[in-house]
Amino acid sequence: ETFQLRPLMDSLIRQFTLKANKEVRFHLDMQPEEIAIYADKLHFTNMISNLLDNAIKYSGTSVDIDIRARESEEWLQLSVTDNGIGIPQAQQSRVFERFYRVSKGNIHDVKGFGLGLSYVKDIVERHGGSITLQSKERQGSTFTLLIPIRK
Ligand code: ATP
Ligand code: MG
Repeated sequence: ETFQLRPLMDSLIRQFTLKANKEVRFHLDMQPEEIAIYADKLHFTNMISNLLDNAIKYSGTSVDIDIRARESEEWLQLSVTDNGIGIPQAQQSRVFERFYRVSKGNIHDVKGFGLGLSYVKDIVERHGGSITLQSKERQGSTFTLLIPIRK
């Protein structure tokens, strides 16, 4: 089905701001301003929700989340950047595995099953796309989805 990205993102941002138990500042940068998505809306929404959930969970008492969307003729690129705890280089390639969680000897005792990212990877790959990660420990992470556009 076809839907607009902006209202979906606005509603997710509103939801996550309300339910977060910490201070969350969102910044949404879309180019062009209007982007139409041709995909399964529920799966697409769940994908973004997983990334936003992680960005909020794996950060300190406040977090800045930058969402950046770029559309070309053939691709939609959507990235979620946080300034949270980051992921050590050695573990970055494993976070997309089912049940994998980064072991943390720090204050952030965060609950989870280790399934969110494996779900996101599965969905994006079934849409013919990919997910990549850039992260630096104690500085933050960027997860980028690259999704082919079907018109
Ligand atoms: P679930 O999503 O199933 O509730 P989870 O959040 O532990 O549990 P994933 O979303 O698959 O599972 O993430 C896997 C692991 O990757 C996390 O346990 C965490 O260690 C690390 N991780 C994921 N996103 C981030 C992030 N934005 N910043 C830091 N670490 C992250
Ligand atoms: Mg998760």
